[in-house]
Amino acid sequence: MEFKMQNMRIGQGYDVHAFAEGRKLILGGVDIPHTKGLLGHSDADVLAHAIADALLGGIRGGDIGKLFPDTDPAYAGADSLVLLAAVANKVREEGYVILDVDSVIAAQAPKLSPHREAMRQNLAKAMGIPVENIGVKATTTEHLGFEGREEGISATAVALLYKED
Ligand code: MG
Repeated sequence: MEFKMQNMRIGQGYDVHAFAEGRKLILGGVDIPHTKGLLGHSDADVLAHAIADALLGGIRGGDIGKLFPDTDPAYAGADSLVLLAAVANKVREEGYVILDVDSVIAAQAPKLSPHREAMRQNLAKAMGIPVENIGVKATTTEHLGFEGREEGISATAVALLYKED
C-alpha cells in the first residue's frame, strides 16, 4: 500500500454530561464507584461519546446526536461502547482505517487513574484497534468551572484516520 499524506484525516470530539444522584458513573465502559453518576439518555459515557464524535469528525460524518438521537427510545440506557463500535464500523465502511486516538477526561472527582487501563482495553476492543492506539488521560480543572465544581464531566478526543484507495 502506497502511503498518501492527502489520505489522512483528523477528527475532534467533545462532550459534556452533568452529574445526577442515583446514576452510575460509566467512563470508557468502566463502572466507576462514586457518589453520583452522569445524566443522559444512554449510559452517559462522556468519554465514549467524545471518541465517537472524533471518529465521525474524521469522516465528516456528522455526530452521534444525529446517528443515535436522544429522542429514540432504542437508545435509552444504551451501552455507549456498542454505539462506539457501530461508529467504528461506519468509519471502516467508508474506507477508513483508525490509526490512532487520544483523549482527555476533565473531572475533579473521582480519581480516574486506577481505571485508565480498563478504559483503554474497553475502548480498543469496541473500536477494533490495538490498545496501544488509544490514549486516555485525566485531569482535574483545579476546582475551576463546572468540572471543578463537580457539576459534571467533560471529555475531548482526537482521532487520526487514513483512507485506503
Ligand atoms: Mg454525550
